[in-house]
Amino acid sequence: MSFSHTVLLVAMRAEAEPLIGELRLKKSRSPWAPHLPMKLFQGKRGRSKISLVLFGKDADHGIDVIGTQAATIAATIALDKLKPSLLLNAGTAGGMQQFGAQIGDVYLATKAIYHDRRIPIPGFDHYGRGNYDLKKGHVLVKKTALKKGTVSTGNSLDYVTRDLEIIQEHEAVMKDMEAAAIAWVARLYKVPLIVIKSITDIVDGGRPTHEEFLENLATASQNLQKKVVEILSEITH
Ligand code: SAH
Repeated sequence: MSFSHTVLLVAMRAEAEPLIGELRLKKSRSPWAPHLPMKLFQGKRGRSKISLVLFGKDADHGIDVIGTQAATIAATIALDKLKPSLLLNAGTAGGMQQFGAQIGDVYLATKAIYHDRRIPIPGFDHYGRGNYDLKKGHVLVKKTALKKGTVSTGNSLDYVTRDLEIIQEHEAVMKDMEAAAIAWVARLYKVPLIVIKSITDIVDGGRPTHEEFLENLATASQNLQKKVVEILSEITH
């Protein structure tokens, strides 16, 4: 299958830079309100258009905006203004070693859940968990070799005991801060979503997450770039 316009949604600059370089994307004027931090980079691959929406910087704190709020806005403006036929969220994630994850692995997500939306009221409990099926997107990736599993999203880099229990109950192998939010918006717009995550740190290991994350961010982002480029070669002509 071939897609005429793919939008890559990337939270952090360090994750985006190898992709912008390799795909030779150029900064474009963004078609959304100028007060939003999201930045747009564009290019072509064969006859297909590639756009990369980088979430951008928080003006007050000087760091990359990350997490589900930024992800929801980025996905919404990307779908509304760029009208892509395919979305791809490329980023880093924590990995669960009990489910086989190792630092440097690149995963394709088959499902996205939330571990930090606990609403014990009938109906709202299921809504909170999310359980977004990513089949429409992940079945498009046939040739590129990737590990597969569930991604669990929450708004903290660390976790409380209940978060970890939910991640384990759903056998989620990745823990991130954006995928489920993007999956919800993709579902509203009925656009297929591919979620690719490179493992920077081990959630159920002994080391402090932020230390491991910063140590492995550059290597993980390089691995991520290679796999995203392979996938784009599969789905564009
Ligand atoms: N402390 C970092 C901030 C990045 S937070 C810094 O100083 O640069 C982590 C980002 O990487 C989020 O966008 C999230 O999607 C992903 N991520 C990597 N490891 C994660 C983990 N263990 N838990 C949750 N998100 C993680």
